[in-house]
Amino acid sequence: MSEDTKEAREPAAEEGFAKLPLHAKLRAGVREMGYTTPTPIQERTIPEAVGGRDLIGTAQTGTGKTAAFLLPILERLLDRQTGRTLALVLTPTRELALQAEGFLKRLGRHTSLRGAAVYGGVGMADQEHALRGGAEVIVATPGRLLDHMGRGYVDFRSLEILVLDEADRMLDMGFLPDVRRILGELPKRRQTMLFSATMPPEVVRLARDFLHDPKTVHVGETTAAAVGVSHLALPVPQHLKASLLRELLADEAMSSVLVFTRTKHRADRLARQLAQWSLDAGVIHGDRSQAQRVRALEAFRAGRHRVLVATDIAARGIDVEAVSHVVNYDIPNEPDVYVHRVGRTARAQRFGDAFSLVSREEEDDFHRIEQRLGLEIRRATIPGFDYNAAPPPSSGRGDGRFRPPERGGRGGGRGGGRGGGGFSRGGGRRPTRGGPPRSSRPREDSGRERRPTW
Ligand code: AMP
Repeated sequence: MSEDTKEAREPAAEEGFAKLPLHAKLRAGVREMGYTTPTPIQERTIPEAVGGRDLIGTAQTGTGKTAAFLLPILERLLDRQTGRTLALVLTPTRELALQAEGFLKRLGRHTSLRGAAVYGGVGMADQEHALRGGAEVIVATPGRLLDHMGRGYVDFRSLEILVLDEADRMLDMGFLPDVRRILGELPKRRQTMLFSATMPPEVVRLARDFLHDPKTVHVGETTAAAVGVSHLALPVPQHLKASLLRELLADEAMSSVLVFTRTKHRADRLARQLAQWSLDAGVIHGDRSQAQRVRALEAFRAGRHRVLVATDIAARGIDVEAVSHVVNYDIPNEPDVYVHRVGRTARAQRFGDAFSLVSREEEDDFHRIEQRLGLEIRRATIPGFDYNAAPPPSSGRGDGRFRPPERGGRGGGRGGGRGGGGFSRGGGRRPTRGGPPRSSRPREDSGRERRPTW
C-alpha cells in the first residue's frame, strides 16, 4: 500500500465508516451511496476481511452484506489496476450479480479498479473481454462462469480473493457441484469469504473444505425476518386472492409492492388480471428473457410499475430502494423463503409491511413460518371485502363450500375482471380509485383464533 494510502486513513477513534480501515477514496464512495453508519455486519467483518482473514458471515440480504465484502475487496486491491482477475464473487442469480456489480462500481468509483458481471441469458462476447483482461473484480453466476472456463477465456492464476455469496441459495438451486468445480480451479493461496443466511450441512462442508481458519460472524438470528417489518396475515379463500390484492392496492400507501407467487404461471396470470383492472404490474420469472427482466425491474425501480409480480428465484437479490410492501400471494412451504422475501422490504432498517394471503390449504405452511420466526403473526380482515364471494365460473371451484354471492350476477365485481375472481361488495359500495377508502386497510382481528368464514 502506498504512503498516500496510509496518510489518507483517519484515526481509529472516529465514528461511522471512519473507524473502519478504509481508504479515503472508499469512504468517499460510501458517502456518495448515502451510507453514514456501518451496519453490524459491516462493522464486524470489514476489519477482519481487510486484514486478509477467511470469513463466514451468516447474514441475510438486507443487512448490508454486499458492501461488507465489496469494501474489503476494494481496499485490498486499491490501485492495483492490473487487467487480471484478482477477485471473484460467485452469486446464485444474475440479478444478484448485476446488483453486486452495480454496488462495486459505485463504491469503487474513486478507485481505478474495474468490475464486470458474468451471467447467463446474454451474449458472451463482452463478458469474454472482461474476463480476458478488462476487469480486476468479476461477479459471476456459476453456470455461465463455467461456460467461459470451458472455452479457456478465464485466467484465475492471479486470483487473490473469492467470495461465495448466498451459499445456501446456491445449494437450493443445485449449484453447489458447479461451485465446487470452480473452486477446484482457483489458486489455493487466497482469501475466501462465505456468506449465507443459513448454514445447512452441505454449506458447512463447503466451508470446511475450502476455507482456512475462518472467523465466523453471525448477524442477528439467522432465521428472523428483517427488523422493522410488520407482518400481517390475511386469511382468504384461494380463489379470492386476486380480488383481495386488488382491494389492498386501493390503499395508496402501497406505493411500491413486490408480490410473490409460487409459480411462473401464477405470476403471469396475476399480472394479466391486474392489467385488466388497470393496475400496472411488471413480471419477472425464470421464463422471461434477461432483457424483459431488466426492463421490468427498471420500470419498478423508477416507479413506472407500482407492482412487480415475481417468483422466488427471479426475485432473489432484487434490491429496490423503498419497497413499501411485500405481498406473499402464495405462502412458501419453506420458512427461509419467507425470510428472504420479506427481506426485500425494511431493507437496511427501513420500515415496511409484509402481507401474507393465506388460504386454508396454506395454514400449515404458515404456522411453520410463525414457528421459525418465533412470532405470532397477526390476522386481519379487510372491512367490506366479501370473503364469501363465489368462485368465478372459469375456476371450476364450485365445491359448495362457499356461500353464493349476495347479489346474483355481480360476481365480476368492478371492472368485470376475467379469470381472477371478482367479488361483490356489500351495499353496492365501490371504492374510489385514487382516493382509497380507509376501509381498504386491513383491520386486525382481536385474537388469532378468529378465522374468516370460509
Ligand atoms: P444488502 O444486504 O447488501 O443487499 O444491502 C441492503 C441495502 O442496504 C442496500 O440497499 C444497500 O445499499 C443498503 N446499505 C448497505 N449498507 C448500508 C449502510 N451502512 N447504511 C445504509 N444503507 C446501507
